[in-house]
Amino acid sequence: MTPYNMAFACFTCQKSFKKSLGKAPPNKYPSQLTCPNCGEIAYNMGRHFKPPKKNDKKQWEKVRFLFDHGFRFQKIRVGNQYPDSVPYPETLEEARKFVIKYQAYSERKNEI
Ligand SMILES: [Zn+2]
Repeated sequence: MTPYNMAFACFTCQKSFKKSLGKAPPNKYPSQLTCPNCGEIAYNMGRHFKPPKKNDKKQWEKVRFLFDHGFRFQKIRVGNQYPDSVPYPETLEEARKFVIKYQAYSERKNEI
């Protein structure tokens, strides 16, 4: 078993960094760390996160929006006629529809 490299994103810096977290099971990984750049909170974005460019404000807004709705780029598979996972939205406008369409897959659905 290889150690996981988890991606953490700081929405203040619009920056992401990887952190190797050893061999702990994924559910033991911290959901947030301190951003090494600014000291604010950096959120665990899982292993599939592809960060936007630092200055791409719109893309970072989209990522933040998805994150706030419980989507951290986890794989979403709908039924079994789709061998591949659902693609993540390209824009904030698409993301608004996405979080509604796939709300059953949100990691936040069991919260509150
Ligand atoms: Zn930061």
